[in-house]
Amino acid sequence: MKITNIKWEKLRVELDKPFVIAIGVATHAETMIVKVETDEGITGYGEATPSAAVTGETIDTAAAVLPLLRDALAGQNPFSMESIHKIMASVVLRNSSAKAGIDIALYDIMGKRLGMPLYKLLGGHDNKLITDMTVSIDTPEAMAAEALAYKQQGFGVLKIKAGIDPEADMLAMGLIREAVGPKMRLRADANQGWSVNTAIKVMDVYGQYGVEMVEQPVKHWDIDGLAYIRRRTKVALGADESLHTPEDAVKLAKARAVDVFNIKLMKSGGIYPAQRINAIGEAAGIGVMLGCMMETRIGNAASAALVAAQKNITEADLDSFVHFEGAMGISGGFDLKNGVMTLSEKPGLGIEIDF
Ligand SMILES: [Mg+2]
Repeated sequence: MKITNIKWEKLRVELDKPFVIAIGVATHAETMIVKVETDEGITGYGEATPSAAVTGETIDTAAAVLPLLRDALAGQNPFSMESIHKIMASVVLRNSSAKAGIDIALYDIMGKRLGMPLYKLLGGHDNKLITDMTVSIDTPEAMAAEALAYKQQGFGVLKIKAGIDPEADMLAMGLIREAVGPKMRLRADANQGWSVNTAIKVMDVYGQYGVEMVEQPVKHWDIDGLAYIRRRTKVALGADESLHTPEDAVKLAKARAVDVFNIKLMKSGGIYPAQRINAIGEAAGIGVMLGCMMETRIGNAASAALVAAQKNITEADLDSFVHFEGAMGISGGFDLKNGVMTLSEKPGLGIEIDF
């Protein structure tokens, strides 16, 4: 089996309301759908979803890199993932979402060729997982109202964005806990917005509200800062922007800097390197969750398959597909009900799309 061509198409949708986090405001969601064709007539779908502030890529830079990867991978066997990732690394450094777009499409092809859903191909631990829903930054009152609305939709875990104004962050978390009651699981994400001292102060207050984990309180490069915060707070600490590659995972594990790795396929460069990061986390006693950028169902289905497949990956924040429902006829991959994602039993990702 050989790769014969790789195609891509931009997809952009306006958001109903701006998505506000500490590193910026998003008014639209933008992604790139990737299609890999083979000589056996099997087609795989993937997705490249850059986040300029996190991966250093834009849709346009991904569109400039994809032709280089396409030309280098022509004639390769889609099952040769080790070779394919070595070739992609030799073509261009970083550019992780462009690489992820191809990686995901190749796993879709492998699943289709084997007649096997992706979660089985990746380990087969389970076919279900729980995802959280994200509350972006707004007034504390509006955030509490949104959290309550998600509780009423059946979600049992919420991720609360923070990191712009620490006083407002603490106030919002108190109002949210009051609104959703004691049973709702809460986690938070400061997206690098706090100083070390602010993080310790806010996390102590969050601890009183039963927040279980805080993601990326300080700048992505500040591994010492993460380790210092971790030694001084009781709330579990997670790395997101500090964690892209398996090498980052080793650094974080050696420094005993975090309790949780938040892997995103767009940071790791796809499923193949993400499995390595999970293996490092598991060996180091670090829990793993899968997060997302602004992917459609394609990227979310790939991430969900990896969560379900691997026992050490216990948490998921895979909620971005809701922004794209109906776009390009993309459907399938999974069902989401009461915060539980059940994966498709169709081969590969199980995605339907008009492309
Ligand atoms: Mg995050």
